[in-house]
Amino acid sequence: MKHSNIAIFVPHAGCRQKCSFCDQQTITAQRSLPSHADVRCICEEAFREISDLSQTEIAFFGGSFTAVPHPYMVELLEAAQPYAQRCRGIRISTRPDAIDGGMLHMLRTYGVRAIELGAQSLDDRVLELNGRGHTAADVERASEMIRREGFELGLQIMPGLYGSTPESDRATAEAVCRIHPDTVRIYPVVILDGTPLGELFKAGTYQPRPFADMVGEVAEMMLGFMAEKIRIIKVGLHASEFVGDHALGGYYHPAFRELCESRIFRGVIRAAVIAQDGMKWKDVYKIAVHPGCISKAIGQRQENLHYFYENYGTRLYIIPDQTVAPLTCKIVKEN
Ligand code: SF4
Repeated sequence: MKHSNIAIFVPHAGCRQKCSFCDQQTITAQRSLPSHADVRCICEEAFREISDLSQTEIAFFGGSFTAVPHPYMVELLEAAQPYAQRCRGIRISTRPDAIDGGMLHMLRTYGVRAIELGAQSLDDRVLELNGRGHTAADVERASEMIRREGFELGLQIMPGLYGSTPESDRATAEAVCRIHPDTVRIYPVVILDGTPLGELFKAGTYQPRPFADMVGEVAEMMLGFMAEKIRIIKVGLHASEFVGDHALGGYYHPAFRELCESRIFRGVIRAAVIAQDGMKWKDVYKIAVHPGCISKAIGQRQENLHYFYENYGTRLYIIPDQTVAPLTCKIVKEN
């Protein structure tokens, strides 16, 4: 059953400052904050269209939900509550330093079941350089409270931030694995015009790592999360013409996740061949993958096929096989 969110954006509501990379009005393509009536209207419309609400959540995204002025937070929650009772509940995203016991109790009474924290990094230096205003310890403390109170916990991380390195981002992913949230979203940084990060980029002070390197780094993180059975619910900013128009650099790609999964396949196929034939690569291999993974195994513009031909002199034929698990492969033995 496919999960869906009825997304209600509260751009920058509750934010104490603007983080270096953030412009929620561009990301959400929304300038104003929703009212009680807006929330009801969005829910009514969505409920008319969704036939099975059992996997649907009402999601307040785009701000620091638990830091918005209390009367406004209650206004939004009261508007959503009757609908939350008819679907899976409410999901919110917020800052790690805006969580306390009283807040969690209140959220539960209104039907909130999942809380996502914008962690971005678990390196205090990177957090400070990007104006986050919280520490890695805040992420750990808030995560612990959220889990203890029985909410689903999600962490959002942003590899490639100003001041980060492949090592610091890898350490962040490892720290996330230790915290072990239920879900993770990976948003490789997108440099938006009009943000402090955009200014650093234009001044040449901040130079993001090469795009292809970031694809490899995120693929490695994904493997780590999958090994820990942490559900990866998003990789890359959602595709939007607003983001595309305002991106100065960084890692905006409408199919970033697919790029990373193709990179994962590169490693999976290489490992399968080496396990079978050592480093004696044959001229041709027939590789079976799950039917839903054919394009990922081949790669955009057939880049995986080119990679194996150029590096190992081998031609791959990718074929569908229902019995092969997603993101794995099986070498088909020739008779
Ligand atoms: S990243 Fe989160 S806390 Fe920072 S400005 Fe954006 S919405 Fe606010």
